[in-house]
Amino acid sequence: MNFQAPEGTKDITPDQVVLWNRLEKAARETFSRFGYEEVRTPIFEYTSLFYKSSGETTDIVEKEMFTFGDPEDKKGTYSLRPELTPGTIRALIEQGLFAKKNFWKVWYLGPAFRKERPQKGRYRQFTQIGVEAVGSPDPLVDAETMVLFAEILKAVGVTAWELRVNSIGCGDCRPKYRDALKEAIRPLLPTLDENCKRRFERNVFRILDCKVDADKTQNLPRAIDYTCDKCKAHLAVVETALQAAAVPYRIDPRIVRGLDYYTRTVYEFSSSALGAQNALAGGGRYDTLVGSMGGPEVGSVGFAAGVERILLAMGGEATAPPPDFYAVAAGDVARTEVFKTVVALRRAGLSGDMDFEARSVKAQMRSANKTGARYALFIGPEEAQKGAVKLKDMKDGAEQTVSLDEAVRKLQGGTS
Ligand code: AMP
Repeated sequence: MNFQAPEGTKDITPDQVVLWNRLEKAARETFSRFGYEEVRTPIFEYTSLFYKSSGETTDIVEKEMFTFGDPEDKKGTYSLRPELTPGTIRALIEQGLFAKKNFWKVWYLGPAFRKERPQKGRYRQFTQIGVEAVGSPDPLVDAETMVLFAEILKAVGVTAWELRVNSIGCGDCRPKYRDALKEAIRPLLPTLDENCKRRFERNVFRILDCKVDADKTQNLPRAIDYTCDKCKAHLAVVETALQAAAVPYRIDPRIVRGLDYYTRTVYEFSSSALGAQNALAGGGRYDTLVGSMGGPEVGSVGFAAGVERILLAMGGEATAPPPDFYAVAAGDVARTEVFKTVVALRRAGLSGDMDFEARSVKAQMRSANKTGARYALFIGPEEAQKGAVKLKDMKDGAEQTVSLDEAVRKLQGGTS
């Protein structure tokens, strides 16, 4: 019987993990430079958390959650997280972190789950990396999150990206926009697909997200034409800050984002190097979410990016750096002697391996070549007795017998 991974999931094999680690390292360094701290939360939460935060009329909550339960848990069913923002905010509130300081800049990396139809770049388990800057209404923070993501892309060599920004207004101006939008869509309604019809009553903004009827909704009113003076001023500072940081962007009135909690700034990074699923990251400001979840009434902004999508955009392959040595058991030596030397070298900070299949010297040399080790290190009975090793420089073939200490110095120095 052959087992298969569930549709829409991916195995990350050792050759792929190198690229992954490069991205993760670049992201960690960038987050740290920008003053963001890491948080980790469970991969499942009570379903009600997502209803309350992501929004019950959004696709990811309405149709895409993996929900299960424990009949003995009276607090309700669980759902695998379709995004990480709700759990992150819940954790900040539940752990009482706002008693320590008012403004938290945090980042996360971990799996998210959505019951979507799998295709290239769209999976049922994928990995999100993102930030939440919780506790400031300052438009400079909106800009900071965008600059931060652009820096991560730069650090991993992704250049073909575009940033589109929009403002969807606030509690004061959004209702006016909602009415105008409904007014304009009402006559089109009979021609729209079932999904859009449902959205009309439940969450009319989402019609702008609709791919099927995009051509019919081209000339609808634009949110930025309805924003109040405060929202306009907010967006103006975001734009000035992006210009000051030399991050290219363009205002796109069609960006609404699929989640309920956004206010004012919304944005998306996409890549022309990807196919249909070209969104690298999406984010925006959410000034009412934290308060509505029982936390302080504070302004916040964040983004989530798809790790697998960034890896696709990075393209190419990465190889791990070659090890320092490969130890070869030569002649009639006790393999525990080789093992002892290998452990000593590793304890000295060097990387390398030995043969664990009791193979011939020739076969061991083949392994030494394959790993790309800088040195092959022969240990025969004589060397073992003297506490020495015979070093072979794999580049020029030069050989010399040295004490173990000297071998360590030589390998650490990195010179041949
Ligand atoms: P969203 O909040 O839905 O915009 O998701 C944020 C980012 O996560 C997107 O820009 C994608 O890069 C990534 N993403 C979302 N859904 C998926 C998926 N099903 N598979 C892979 N990546 C995804």
